Amino acid sequence: MAEKKETTTTTEGSLKKVIAHAKEYGFVFPSSDIYDGLQAVYDYGQYGVELKNNLKNLWWKSMTQLNSNVMGIDAGIFMHPTVWKASGHVDSFNDPMIDNKDSKKRYRADVLIEDKAAKYEEAGDENRGQNLRNRLGKLMEANDLEGVRALMIEEEIKCPVSGTLNWTEVRQFNLMFSTQVGSVAEDSSTIYLRPETAQGIFVNFLNVQKSGRAKIPFGIAQIGKAFRNEIVARQFIFRMREFEQMEMQFFVRPGEEMKWYEHWRDTRMKWHQAIGLPAEKLKFHKHEKLAHYANAAVDIEYQFPFGFKEMEGIHSRTDFDLKSHQEYSKKKQQYFDPEINQNYIPYVVETSVGADRLFLAVLCNAYNEQEVGEGEDKKVRVFLSLHPALAPIKAAIFPLVKKDGLPEKAQEIFKTLQQDFNVIYEERDTIGKRYTRQDLIGTPFCIVVDQESLATETVTVRHRDCTEQERVAIADLPNFIGNAVSFKRIFEKL
Ligand code: ATP
Repeated sequence: MAEKKETTTTTEGSLKKVIAHAKEYGFVFPSSDIYDGLQAVYDYGQYGVELKNNLKNLWWKSMTQLNSNVMGIDAGIFMHPTVWKASGHVDSFNDPMIDNKDSKKRYRADVLIEDKAAKYEEAGDENRGQNLRNRLGKLMEANDLEGVRALMIEEEIKCPVSGTLNWTEVRQFNLMFSTQVGSVAEDSSTIYLRPETAQGIFVNFLNVQKSGRAKIPFGIAQIGKAFRNEIVARQFIFRMREFEQMEMQFFVRPGEEMKWYEHWRDTRMKWHQAIGLPAEKLKFHKHEKLAHYANAAVDIEYQFPFGFKEMEGIHSRTDFDLKSHQEYSKKKQQYFDPEINQNYIPYVVETSVGADRLFLAVLCNAYNEQEVGEGEDKKVRVFLSLHPALAPIKAAIFPLVKKDGLPEKAQEIFKTLQQDFNVIYEERDTIGKRYTRQDLIGTPFCIVVDQESLATETVTVRHRDCTEQERVAIADLPNFIGNAVSFKRIFEKL
């Protein structure tokens, strides 16, 4: 392996740069782009979908393959409407919204107040910030929306657009999207697009436990779409109306939940570091104010270009969900524990990470600008330093020139590698331009077939991050790439 050359300047791209890069190089496009987009919905392009699939596969395998007591399912997006009554989403999956009468802009009142608290804290006035958060917490708990508005006025929280305090009242807004099933209007009934994947797991708890003869503790994992009618959609794919979650519910004996909560909290933090996110850009944010069903909760936050924000939640959810489903469905949700000879409703520890937020964190972290060359030749090289296991394309195969049998040899190598890896073949443009194109999409290896290749059955391999080259035997290429891109290299760190 070539030695790593120091990067002269490496800066994390600002969000704007990352968004522009994502669009320009086929990672993420605004939805329905030719119609000027649909707010808070995005499409993954040809490289984006590969990166996202790699992240999802990695999560899936680290959950199900590395933990013999975690099994996966894939439940429907539509569910019986009573599910959302039992889960509490119909009655309380609300955000408090407020409009400014002058700018006509809509905001989440709680977010405006929290932003103000953060400003106090940034200015060093921790107490004032905390005090404000506590007051907001109490008002929200009591559903005192007038109080929330009064607090905004007292704190002189102005509309960022109009700069005025001319606010409407605060209203609760349910985030679930609804639609109708049934072809005839009279027969139709309202159902929801799931706002989280977790409930699909809870309602299948006994199905999986019985069919899989699972013994507690065990987990059920799921990856799938979730939908939320977010009031304010901002920050690119950080807050979308249609997004993807990767959730795992771990069913445990009551009383043992804290041990498992700590286990999953630490395991998940390690996982983010193992995929290449730096430890200093990750932190825990413990919830002081807990949701009514939780007895412990923590977020894993990543330092996005717009600050530390939630990427994953780890929650100890007690027996709230299963108990509630038992009440509403009138079907026992109990487990007989042969070790203690007791029937009980299990407690649950949940890990819940957004695939899109994870994608954004990985992309922001991978975006590198490096100054190269001297004097007049000085320029900026942009490359994505993605972990090889995550990179959309694992290697690009180039003939040095388009003659002398080099394209044929390169094609031969391409066809062999293609069986195992996502590789591409390119012969257009100068070799420098071809390198640049691969740097921009994060391809870890560029394989060049030159005159020497014909005589010695070797090629040069250029490493993306350090740009060093080394000679590798053609026969060793599958092993060489296989080693670098294997999930094993990540799993070993867990
Ligand atoms: P937030 O406070 O940012 O709205 P949340 O606490 O409501 O998030 P959870 O309900 O805990 O989020 O969902 C679990 C995970 O799903 C989050 O950590 C996040 O990664 C992801 N997620 C939630 N809402 C969205 C969204 N609108 N767009 C993209 N990802 C989301």
